[in-house]
Amino acid sequence: MNRLPSLFISHGAPTFALEPGTAGSQLTALGRELQRPEAVLVVSPHWMTAEPRVATTARPRTIHDFGGFGAALFDITYPADGHPALAARTIEILRAAGWPVAADPQRGLDHGAWVPLLHLYPEADVPVFQVSMPYSLDAASAFEFGRTLAPLASEGVLIVGSGSLTHNLHALRFGMERDEPSAEFARWVRESAARGDRERVLRALEIAPHARRAHPTPEHYLPLPIAAGAAPVDEAEVLEGGMSYGVLAMDSFVFGRRLRC
Ligand code: ZN
Repeated sequence: MNRLPSLFISHGAPTFALEPGTAGSQLTALGRELQRPEAVLVVSPHWMTAEPRVATTARPRTIHDFGGFGAALFDITYPADGHPALAARTIEILRAAGWPVAADPQRGLDHGAWVPLLHLYPEADVPVFQVSMPYSLDAASAFEFGRTLAPLASEGVLIVGSGSLTHNLHALRFGMERDEPSAEFARWVRESAARGDRERVLRALEIAPHARRAHPTPEHYLPLPIAAGAAPVDEAEVLEGGMSYGVLAMDSFVFGRRLRC
């Protein structure tokens, strides 16, 4: 099996499940184009723990970890299987790298995983398991975390960092108009990733324009350096997804799709 690419996906608001838009149709097309994985590994900021945990259940339940949305969202389930064997392999790899990792046989799929997967694999026919995001990560150590997981990409695992290229929920309350500072931040990161500027991708929260406005807290950005670290190349193919609710950039990045090794 060829090495699989790694993905950074902007998961937007939970309503992305019902309103695919451009970003959703791009993910569906991507899912059809990619070599079929044995399993998808998702790291999402909606499961953060002190030390990494790996979901080992064979039947992950759909977690509706949000409030204030209509009943339709709570009726959605994503019935993909888990993959206990590849989850166990992930634990082995993290442990070998020195992480005090634990198996979690209870954990299901949070909306950072199942909402974009509804579009990427609408049939829910590719097994999926989550790895929690350690609280201690910054962009540099997130990249290293991804690098630790990278060997799995040669073992049939599609590594997905699911976050949001911009994530200012405070600005979201002020209406549907596009937040230009967030859009400028997103453009800066897109350009940096597209040309493979690892330094800028890793330091975006410090040096990119309007970084603090785009990410008042870092957790939705960190899945991007995780995905970058999981790939052997720095250049990303950018799937531009526009802005949701004016402040959530829906762009996704594919790292290492063109490689054959
Ligand atoms: Zn989120």
